[in-house]
Amino acid sequence: MENTIKTNLEIILNRIKSASEAANRSSEEVKLLLATKTVSADNIKIALNNKQTLIGENKIDEIKEKYNELKNIQHQQHFIGHLQSNKVKDLLKYDVDCIQSLDRLKVAQKLQNRLEYEDKTIDAFLQINTSYEESKFGVKPEEALKFAMDVAHFDRINIKGLMTIGLFSAEDEAVRKCFKLLKNIQILLLDKGIPANELSMGMSGDLEIAIQEGATIVRVGTAIFGKRKYPDSYYWNENK
Ligand SMILES: *Cc1c(COP(=O)(O)O)cnc(C)c1O
Repeated sequence: MENTIKTNLEIILNRIKSASEAANRSSEEVKLLLATKTVSADNIKIALNNKQTLIGENKIDEIKEKYNELKNIQHQQHFIGHLQSNKVKDLLKYDVDCIQSLDRLKVAQKLQNRLEYEDKTIDAFLQINTSYEESKFGVKPEEALKFAMDVAHFDRINIKGLMTIGLFSAEDEAVRKCFKLLKNIQILLLDKGIPANELSMGMSGDLEIAIQEGATIVRVGTAIFGKRKYPDSYYWNENK
């Protein structure tokens, strides 16, 4: 497994580099986040020992399970899953550096209250549903500015960027449309003084398009760690 992960990492880093060059961007502008759902702590360690520093989990239980094994290896942990308001307190126990999936005011309020109580702050990205699919979480694009302005009132939450899961489609142009929309929302927010400088978009199958459209973080799982045994709907649908 170690060699497979190393080889896959090289392939992904090369894809990021080529895509950045093709888009006249420096590959240093594009960070790789390892999407580690279902991946064992041992396999995550292999990646962290190969210069990777940024990982993202979808479930608090998985963060908890792997926490002790990973806490002594330098890295940043982002939360990229669906966050329920009754889980906010639990999530804050595990040194999460950033929540990429903030999409409801109720959760933001809970987070603000708990952070006040613990006298902490946290970075956050707002998740936008750029594909308008029912199955995906995120704020509707037309509501993004209002949501951002509301969240900006919470002094414990630092808005740093936007996140989206694009449409899964073989048609590049349909996928691109989602990423362009996220970029346009970013421009709107920056214009209002909301520092959403990061754009987290692009995964194993569509990172090239995302980089062309301005991604600063791509989130990659399968192409590094192999296929997962659960379908993604298990992670993306609240009712499962
Ligand atoms: C699983 C996941 C990814 C990575 O998807 P792959 O297709 O395995 O690269 C990215 N973002 C989110 C939110 C995820 O849940």
